[in-house]
Amino acid sequence: MANEETIIQLKGMGKEFKTANGPVVALNDINLDIYRGEIFGIIGLSGAGKSTLVRCINMLEVPTSGQVLFEGENLAAMSEAERRMARQSMGMIFQQFNLLSQRTVLKNICFPMEIAKNHSYTKAEAKNRAMELLKLVGLEERAGAYPAQLSGGQKQRVAIARAIATNPKVLLCDEATSALDVSVQAQIIRLLKKLADGMKMSYLFISHDLALVSSLCDKIAVMYHGEIVESGATREVMEHPKEEYTRLLLDSVLSVPYGNQTIS
Ligand code: ADP
Repeated sequence: MANEETIIQLKGMGKEFKTANGPVVALNDINLDIYRGEIFGIIGLSGAGKSTLVRCINMLEVPTSGQVLFEGENLAAMSEAERRMARQSMGMIFQQFNLLSQRTVLKNICFPMEIAKNHSYTKAEAKNRAMELLKLVGLEERAGAYPAQLSGGQKQRVAIARAIATNPKVLLCDEATSALDVSVQAQIIRLLKKLADGMKMSYLFISHDLALVSSLCDKIAVMYHGEIVESGATREVMEHPKEEYTRLLLDSVLSVPYGNQTIS
């Protein structure tokens, strides 16, 4: 029986890709609990399996073993309609923003409300909510702009507004700040922190950038070669890593002490 406060549970999850050169094990025996309202970070070098893990949670990939539970329900055992509802409860932001180039900023944010199955927004309601969200992300002046007219940081703000438009229970962030300059990354992290404080939403924040993850996340898991080698409270893992790999990762990527990495 799942803890009623867990939003996502991964149980013995594995993913193997079949390729022309033979099978590639991208994930092996992943066990993870993400609680309601928690900001959970996954760190690891490129190729560790982070994106595959997110894609298995939001059903872009089907795990080859184990289970993904959303609010205690096994995604694989859900009906098509239930799965669609679960998927709508997961917002997603990516490194490449993935905005619709032919639509204005306002219409990009209206889009998930137009296709939502669990809400029925009238056009006017969707537009009002999109304007509120634009205000929240500090872009109310740019409602009529097209994505090509925005900076990278502005595009990611629009993507965040779009991702939270239908009040998801969890926001999946896959390298969401990696394409941005450091100062813009800090703005986006500040925005995500502000949203986390204001909404009862969980975050799963995936990045190869340990400093960024540690500045945002309550808990972290360290991935290596498709496995979680260590997880726990961020400060605990950062200051007292139990595994040799985590120590090596920390030594290789942190040039200043953890306390000085915080972005506020
Ligand atoms: P990360 O996000 O940590 O960089 P990925 O999840 O993208 O890692 O990749 C994990 C492993 O799975 C890598 O070895 C990658 O080459 C492999 N992989 C990912 N997607 C596919 C795919 N569609 N087909 C074959 N191999 C894949």
